[in-house]
Amino acid sequence: MPIIKLDEKLSLTIPTDLALQAGLAPGDRISVEPDGAGRLLLSPLREPKSPQKPALQEAVDRKNLATPMQFIKGVGPKLAETMVRKGINTVEDALYLLPHRYEDRSTIMPINRLAVGSIQLFCGEVAAAEPMTTKGGRRYFEVLLRDKSGAIILKWFNFNPVFMKRTWRIGRRGIFTGHVGHYGLQREVHHPEVEWLNEGEEATTALARDPASFGRIVPVYPLTEGLSQKIMRKVLKEVVERFAGCVADHLPIGVRQRHSLIPISEALREAHFPAAVTDMAQLNQGSFPARRTLVFDEFFYLELGMALKRQGVTLEAGISFTVTHKYTKLLLQMLSFQLTAAQRRVLTEIKEDMMAPHPMHRLVQGDVGSGKTLVALLAALVAVENGYQVAFMAPTEILAEQHFLNIHRWCEELGVSVVLLTSSFKGKAREAVFARIADGSAQIVIGTHAVIQEKVEFRRLGMGIIDEQHRFGVLQRGILRKKGENPDILVMTATPIPRTLAMTVFGDLSLSVIDELPPGRTPIETRVMFESRRPQVYAAIRAEVKSGRQAYLICPLVEEAEKSELKAAAQMAEHLQSDIFPDLRVGLLHGRMKPEEKEAVMRAFKAQETDILVATTVIEVGIDVPNATIMVVEHAERFGLSQLHQLRGRVGRGSEQSCCFLLASQRLSEDGEKRLRVMESSTDGFRIAEADLEIRGPGDFLGTRQAGLPEFRVADILRDGRVLEEARREAFALAEADPGLKQPEHAGIRTELARRWGGRLELAGVA
Ligand code: ADP
Ligand code: MG
Repeated sequence: MPIIKLDEKLSLTIPTDLALQAGLAPGDRISVEPDGAGRLLLSPLREPKSPQKPALQEAVDRKNLATPMQFIKGVGPKLAETMVRKGINTVEDALYLLPHRYEDRSTIMPINRLAVGSIQLFCGEVAAAEPMTTKGGRRYFEVLLRDKSGAIILKWFNFNPVFMKRTWRIGRRGIFTGHVGHYGLQREVHHPEVEWLNEGEEATTALARDPASFGRIVPVYPLTEGLSQKIMRKVLKEVVERFAGCVADHLPIGVRQRHSLIPISEALREAHFPAAVTDMAQLNQGSFPARRTLVFDEFFYLELGMALKRQGVTLEAGISFTVTHKYTKLLLQMLSFQLTAAQRRVLTEIKEDMMAPHPMHRLVQGDVGSGKTLVALLAALVAVENGYQVAFMAPTEILAEQHFLNIHRWCEELGVSVVLLTSSFKGKAREAVFARIADGSAQIVIGTHAVIQEKVEFRRLGMGIIDEQHRFGVLQRGILRKKGENPDILVMTATPIPRTLAMTVFGDLSLSVIDELPPGRTPIETRVMFESRRPQVYAAIRAEVKSGRQAYLICPLVEEAEKSELKAAAQMAEHLQSDIFPDLRVGLLHGRMKPEEKEAVMRAFKAQETDILVATTVIEVGIDVPNATIMVVEHAERFGLSQLHQLRGRVGRGSEQSCCFLLASQRLSEDGEKRLRVMESSTDGFRIAEADLEIRGPGDFLGTRQAGLPEFRVADILRDGRVLEEARREAFALAEADPGLKQPEHAGIRTELARRWGGRLELAGVA
C-alpha cells in the first residue's frame, strides 16, 4: 500500500497515477476511515447515483433497439421484407407495434361449457365434415366437433372444398379457438383457428409447442398480407424477451408514482404478453396499466417538446407594441356593424400578447363566418401603428386574393398600403413588389407561401398572420419568424379542432376561440339526398336561379386521382350546361387552372355573370359571394364532415335563407348515412369536428400529415384524451421547474426528447 504524507497545512497531495487508478477526478470528495490498525483508508466518495444508466450503456441499448428484424430468430429474408413493408424495420418498431386486442387462451374448456359471446379455447375430434348449402343457396363448410362433454358446430363461409375435405378428416383431433356464437338453437364457431394434434398426442404437449399462442392471454396484432398471427406472436415473443429491457426509461420517479405507471420494459412485456391475472375487459378497452404507461410516456415527450417550444418563444425578447388606436378606432367607425363579444374578447387577448415584451404565438380558432379576418386585420393595424410591417399568408391564391381585396378596400380609406404577392407574380411586377416590401412602403403584405420565399426581405416585419394553419404546418411558422425581429405570430383556423387534438397539433400555441357568429345570419338548411332524387335537386337549383340567386355545385377531388376527378368536374359542368340548364350560365373552377383563369371565373361569378359554378374543393375556404344561396355537394360521402362544414359555409353569407344538398350514393352504408345526417342536425363546427374525428381518426381528420408533429406509436388521441391531459400537465410542470432541462438529473430526459423529436426542437434549444 502506498504511503502519502500530510503536509504542514494538513492537506494531502495524491500522485496523479494513483488518483487515476482509484478512479478519482479533480473535485471528487474522498472518505477517510480508520482501518483499525492505526492507519487511515482513503476511498472515493461516490455521489448517490442518479437512476439513469451510464451513457455508455445507453449507447449500446440504442444500438440494440436499432437491430434490423432479419437478425431475429425465425425471421428470414422474406418475412423481414414483409415486415419492412408494414413499417417494422427494427426491433424498436416491433416492440411498439402493440396488439389491437387480446384473447384468453389460458385454459382448454370442455365443449359443453363454452361460453357464448366470447373467444374460447377448446379441444375435440372431428365427427363429421361436409360442404353444405343454406336455404338461400349460400355454400358453407360444416364440421361437427366432439369431446367427452359434448359437441359443437364449426362453419366456414369462404373455403376451398378440396382443401377442407382433405384437412378435416374424421377422427382428427385439434385445439381450436374462436368466437362462440349462438345461431338459432345451436352454438357455432365460425372460422376457428386450429392447432392440430399428432397421433396420440396430449393437448398439453401441443400447447407447449407454441407458448406464444396458447396457454395464456395471447395478443392479436394488426396484420397485413403475408403475416399470420402465429408468426407475429412467435417473432414478437422473441423480440420482447430479448429487447424490452433495452428501452430507455427516463420518466421522473415522481411522475411515475403520481400516475401509477410501471417501468417501460415491464409495460412492453405486459402489453404484448399480459400476465394470466390481467382483466380481459380492461385489456381490450386499452385501459390496463401497461398500455397506460406506454401512452403516458409517448404523450409526455410530445408535450414536453411543446412546453419547451412554447417556453423558447416566451423567454425570447420580442417587440413590445403600444396600442395607439390610431387606425383601429377609425376602422371600427367605418364598419356598419359592432364587433361581437367573442371578437372583442379575442382581440383583447391578442393585444395583451402584442404589448408584452415577448413574441406572441397565438392560435385563433373560429367557425366559418365568425369574423376572424377582421380580428386579424385589427391586430395587423396595431403593428402598423407602431411602424412595423405585417405579413398575411393564406393557403391558396384565390384566398390570398380575396383577403387582399377585402383588406385593401378598408385600408385604402385608412391610408395604409397593402400589397399582394403570390407565386404567379413574375418578372418586373414581382421585383416591384419585392422593392416595396424591402423599403417598407408596403405596410401589409398579403400572399401565399410566396411571402416567405428566400428573396423576400422585409424592412421591418413585426407580425405574421397565417390563415388556415393546418395547411401550412409548423415549419412555415419558423421561417416567417426569421423574416423579422422575432415578430408576433397569429395563426387562424376555421377548422374547429377538438381540444385533445389541438393540444397535440398546436400544443405550443396559446389558444383563443371566437365562439360566436355575428347576429342576423340565417342558418343553412342542410339535407342529405340520395342519387335517385337528383331531379329534385336540379329543380331546386333552377328555382333559386330564377329568383336571382346563384348556386355552387361541388365535385370531390381525391388527391391520388386528381386528374380524373378534374375531368369529372369538367364533364359535370358540360353536362349541366348542355343537358340540364341550357338556358343558364354554368362556370367551372378547379385547382389546375392558371391563377388568372381562376380569378376570371371567380370575378364572373361574383359579378353574377354566371349562375351555377361547378367547382372542386378549391372553394373550400374563405370565398365570399353573398348572392350564392344554394350548394350541391356531389358524392358527399367522400368528404370529411369538417370539410363539408367548411364547404357549406360558402353559402348563407347573406341574409337570405340558404340551403345545402348533400348528394349521396345509393349504396351508402348505414354508418355512412348516420355520419352525413350529423350535417343535417348540427351547425356547430365543434360538434361536427368531434363526430368526424371519432369516425375517421386523427390522421384523416387533419388531411395531409402534419409537418413537424411526431407520429403516435401507441397512443390514440381519441381514446387516450385523459392521459394526454395528465401527461401535458406533468410535462409543462417539469419545463417550468427546470427551464431548458438544464439540471443534470434531467439529462436522460433531454437526450430522449431530442431523439423523439428529431431535429424539430431547435427553437427550444434542446436538440
Ligand atoms: P371568417 O374568416 O371567420 O370565416 P370573415 O372574417 O370572413 O369570417 O367574416 C365573414 C363576414 O362577416 C365578412 O363579410 C365580415 O365583414 C363580416 N363580419 C365580421 N365580423 C362581423 C360582425 N361582428 N358583425 C357582422 N358582420 C361581421
Ligand atoms: Mg376566413
